[in-house]
Amino acid sequence: MPRHDNLNPHSEAHLNGPLFQNALKTLREAAAVVKCDPNILERLERPRRCITVSIPVRMDDQSVKVFTGYRVQYNATLGPYKGGIRYHHNVDLPEVVGLAALMTFKNSVLGLPLGGAKGGVCVDPTKLSRAEKQGLTRRYTSEISHFVGPTKDIPAPDVGTDPQTMAWFMDTYSQEQGGYAQPGVVTGKPVEIGGSLGRNHATGLGVIYVCERAMEVNNMQMRGARIAIQGFGNVGSFAAKFAYERGARIVAVSDVSGGIFNGDGLNVPELLTYVKQNGSIKNFPNSQPISNEDLLTVDCEALLPCALEGQIDTHNAEKVKAKIIVEGANGPVTNSATKILAQRGVFIAPDVIANGGGVIVSYFEWVQDIMSFFWDEADVDAKLKGIILKAFDNVYALKKEKNIDMRTAAMAASVSRLEKAMLLRGLYPR
Ligand code: NAD
Repeated sequence: MPRHDNLNPHSEAHLNGPLFQNALKTLREAAAVVKCDPNILERLERPRRCITVSIPVRMDDQSVKVFTGYRVQYNATLGPYKGGIRYHHNVDLPEVVGLAALMTFKNSVLGLPLGGAKGGVCVDPTKLSRAEKQGLTRRYTSEISHFVGPTKDIPAPDVGTDPQTMAWFMDTYSQEQGGYAQPGVVTGKPVEIGGSLGRNHATGLGVIYVCERAMEVNNMQMRGARIAIQGFGNVGSFAAKFAYERGARIVAVSDVSGGIFNGDGLNVPELLTYVKQNGSIKNFPNSQPISNEDLLTVDCEALLPCALEGQIDTHNAEKVKAKIIVEGANGPVTNSATKILAQRGVFIAPDVIANGGGVIVSYFEWVQDIMSFFWDEADVDAKLKGIILKAFDNVYALKKEKNIDMRTAAMAASVSRLEKAMLLRGLYPR
């Protein structure tokens, strides 16, 4: 059952989730730095529209189950709403509000012409058959179809959803538009129906572009640098591949089964093949096992947490030896740990920029769908590099100018862009 099930519809409990409250804290700190107009700040502290829908689904045993789904459209000052759809048994409205706010600030700091949104259904997708998941996706799409579209709101995959889910979403929406294909309504689709080349590796590649630039501004270089990577899924494994290709020594990686270490550097191409065959990094030849906790405190130049949130907190921040942390995952370093690391001179490239490669290439997919003209992979990678490094450089300049940490600077850059746009649109004449 959704956790907020017995909320009073007139209450503001949907604004009280921990994720959203945390985002508001950073927002207010950053707004103070850039002296954001209080009227604009008040508007940025609230979602524009929260949609809750009931989704009846005929299950394989012919019973009908009703699931609860959401779409929160947080802010559309900069362009159509954009954000993923999550299928997870913990999804509730306060969580979706928080995620939609984060998408707004991420799209803004990356300089994309997009607003922020997020969607979700409270369901355990691992308990659904393929037919049930398709039925759920089609009905959820119908329920929110008036609110989405290539010029309105463009969803994408998130936890528990994948390219197939997006294909069903696009098909259902297209049928409701008279049967004309509308690939621009979602991103993260299979390439055959309007997906973009380069989307699969985009987040990992973006992490490495950012890592290289973070090294550059700290007078270091990728070639020969020792790098430790937590998580070896989509983000972590591609980050390892691209760093290895640039001559870095990947000294440690981990996944849910634990970590492996080799001070001379792991052979990443062999590791990628090994993981394909064995399902995990465990017992990889020419490496010694280490715990996940030890991976985070390994002696190295750069640490790339690419697994889960909250991995570096007050209990281990003092022990981190890396000089640079690039946040491949969302929220891997807590706010309190960020302060400790900043005092120790550790440079953090924050998640909103570092893992922005995914949403940047999603933006490219939407552009290509609208143009019906598709780019080759090298073109996608080069355009990704241009956008992500421009965002990094803007935030780094603001960090230097205001003498603040990169996380606060990223939020400050984001708020500034939103404020300027809101003023130009005439909503808040000074
Ligand atoms: P994934 O499911 O492909 O991989 C997750 C990896 O983390 C797996 O290797 C898993 O074994 C490992 N892991 C799980 N628990 C762990 C633990 N306790 N210790 C160490 N490793 C552990 O997921 P992903 O797509 O690579 O996403 C990883 C993170 O990056 C998430 O925070 C996600 O929100 C974020 N992110 C992903 C994308 C994207 O495009 N995939 C974009 C932006 C942000």
